[in-house]
Amino acid sequence: MAEDKRKPARIAFIGLGRMGRGMALNLCRKGFALAVHDVNPEPVRDLVAAGARAADGIADAVRGADLVITMLPNSAVVLEVVAGAAGVLAHAAPGTLVMDMSTVAPEVTDQVAEAAARKDLAFVDAPVGRLASHADRGGSLFMVGGSERDFARVKPVLEAMGTAIYHCGPAGSGTRTKLVNNYLAIVSCHLNAEALTLAQKFGLSLERTLDVIHGTTATNGQLKIAWPAKVLQGDIEPGFTIDLAHKDLTLIVEAANAVRTPVPAAAAAREAYSTARARGYGGKDFSAMADVWCELAGAPKARLGQ
Ligand code: NAD
Repeated sequence: MAEDKRKPARIAFIGLGRMGRGMALNLCRKGFALAVHDVNPEPVRDLVAAGARAADGIADAVRGADLVITMLPNSAVVLEVVAGAAGVLAHAAPGTLVMDMSTVAPEVTDQVAEAAARKDLAFVDAPVGRLASHADRGGSLFMVGGSERDFARVKPVLEAMGTAIYHCGPAGSGTRTKLVNNYLAIVSCHLNAEALTLAQKFGLSLERTLDVIHGTTATNGQLKIAWPAKVLQGDIEPGFTIDLAHKDLTLIVEAANAVRTPVPAAAAAREAYSTARARGYGGKDFSAMADVWCELAGAPKARLGQ
């Protein structure tokens, strides 16, 4: 297996947008030989200036490549560019490793992985975490789905583009981890908007409110600090009860309504806590919301070390 751990000698990089351009530039700077392709000629020129070869389409990019990286906008484009009739899988030689780093639907990742396997091609999904500015400076986080062997093959390449690399499980696990990550990141963004709007409407000092929020578990310290010692260990004794959390959410919804400020996330969350109370969890710690939701969805309860 030693040869699998060598740097791939030749890489095809398809999709040089806000993320892909910076990622590919980092590979060039760190000595990888790249053939690049994008329907937009502008970033291709930047990569050529950095030493990459401009490929004349997908087939030319993939020719002779050990590793094909795609960083494309969405599911439809990935299906076309990777699994389409004139796509990557149609042109790659057996044994080539295909790594899709785009954020797409899990079933698209599964479909592409299966199509790759049918052609004797290896496949990993490796969506990217953190911001575009991190990608520019080689500081991304990668969540990888694939076999141990293929993970070992892509690791040196990912190390040239990022600072944190996690093997999440078999093919498809990277994409699914990315959706969990982005769920929290994007909903938190909206939650921040509701909370800070309420602070503005209450006429509070923004700076002092931020001091308070950053000094408590408000910025998802529940997940970082409280849950690892509570529900994730199987301890749902309070603490702060679901009844009290429900009471506070009611206060928040009513106070926000009184100042004509919509708080849809708070209202939805209040009713989620109502569900927990209806199921008999009112006296339990509010971290037990995890147990309530796993029960509702028929998922195993979230416990560390199991
Ligand atoms: P982008 O739209 O800036 O880049 C996509 C690139 O793909 C463009 O350069 C476009 O010209 C090219 N492209 C489109 N169709 C093509 C085709 N048929 N053949 C070749 N090239 C084609 O998007 P982005 O921000 O770089 O994001 C890429 C992926 O990474 C997305 O799935 C996104 O959700 C994900 N992502 C983005 C960020 C971010 O902060 N922008 C962070 C993490 C993950």
